[in-house]
Amino acid sequence: MRDLQPQAGQAQVLELARVAARDLLAPSATENDRAERFPEEAMRHLARSGLFGINVPKAYGGLEAGVVAYALAVRELASACAGTTVGLMVTNMVAEAIARFGDEAQRQRWLPGLLSGAHAAASFCLSEPGSGSDAASLRATARRDGDHYVLDGTKAWITSGGRAGLYLVMARTSPDGGSRGISAFIVEAGTPGLVATKPEDKLGMRASVTTQIVLDGCRVPSANLLGAEGDGFKVAMGSLDGGRIGVAAQACGIAAAAQRCALDFARGGRADGTALSEQQSTQWLVADNAAELDAGWLLVLRAAALKDKGAPHSREAAMAKVFCTEMASEVASRALQVLGEAGEDSRHSAERNLRDARVTRIYEGTSEVQRIVIARECLKALS
Ligand SMILES: Cc1cc2nc3c(=O)[nH]c(=O)nc-3n(C[C@H](O)[C@H](O)[C@H](O)COP(=O)(O)OP(=O)(O)OC[C@H]3O[C@@H](n4cnc5c(N)ncnc54)[C@H](O)[C@@H]3O)c2cc1C
Repeated sequence: MRDLQPQAGQAQVLELARVAARDLLAPSATENDRAERFPEEAMRHLARSGLFGINVPKAYGGLEAGVVAYALAVRELASACAGTTVGLMVTNMVAEAIARFGDEAQRQRWLPGLLSGAHAAASFCLSEPGSGSDAASLRATARRDGDHYVLDGTKAWITSGGRAGLYLVMARTSPDGGSRGISAFIVEAGTPGLVATKPEDKLGMRASVTTQIVLDGCRVPSANLLGAEGDGFKVAMGSLDGGRIGVAAQACGIAAAAQRCALDFARGGRADGTALSEQQSTQWLVADNAAELDAGWLLVLRAAALKDKGAPHSREAAMAKVFCTEMASEVASRALQVLGEAGEDSRHSAERNLRDARVTRIYEGTSEVQRIVIARECLKALS
């Protein structure tokens, strides 16, 4: 796509991401996917490039470059390795939550270390077995005990579980409070009572490690409470609103990689001396892909620009997420069609792109949940 010209600060972040995608992620993406290997050293390099805190104030070690810059970087990185990129996205989300909801002492305590690469990642622990979309029904508890809280419960499908240095954990401080009874805590890795289980064996995003996090009498100082008691759901939903723009950008990166793969293949010669690109059926497939890719990216840019301005953006973020993540599966599937039998071969990225695309329709709010958000906002606008 001929992109709208990014502003100077955004272009700098994009360049950092381009170099990292080319030199750090792309060379090992296929192997990390096959071996389900979490690229710990690459993650620390990404942190040292500043890419763990793209939208975090410079005072705490971030790039303070905004959401459009973040989307540009995520798209670029995801086109090389979407699995590594999801670890980076969740880490940015946790860093932004600490910057936004933490007090000054908490920001000083955790952000500089996280953003400098002292940890390979941070984790966001909201989902539980039996509470995914309906996050307000979560059952993990945090019981006050003097100047500590004691956390108990199980978190499910946690990105970078067991590899993260910091865990942002949502747990119930009031049994009857519904979403208002939930609080957010920072738990440092190594805190007794926090254990990551065996990694999940996933269809896609296999360079990202995903585990359950079991909290069993896990004592954290009350100074680790992020925001006020009862603010946890607000912390979680505020983070996911922005996170969805990231997932939409990630889906655009995955789709762009699949389309590039299809174009490269179509331009190549065939045994009979003609190129696939001369066939109208191939041209239709790549044309549909190109149009949908551009439409999706424009939705991402709109949502990101609104967030950068501090304007309401829930509807636009949900639109970008549902459109781009469903588009990515379609685009990757068409790319495989162009490749024919070669599409089944893992030496071409398209089959990994198709597998990676699928889960973007699930995490950080399913497609159905995004449609609920969009419809609610449309109906609110009418009343
Ligand atoms: C690879 C991966 C990584 C993840 N990483 C994290 C992470 O780091 N942190 C974290 O907290 N979570 C994480 N998750 C969990 C993810 O956020 C949840 O899977 C997601 O929220 C959906 O929840 P669920 O799987 O329980 O599905 P459910 O909520 O049980 O939904 C099942 C189906 O029912 C539909 N549905 C549910 N409720 C409604 C409704 N009210 N109206 C219409 N349809 C509905 C859904 O759209 C879906 O199609 C991850 C998941 C995966 C697969």
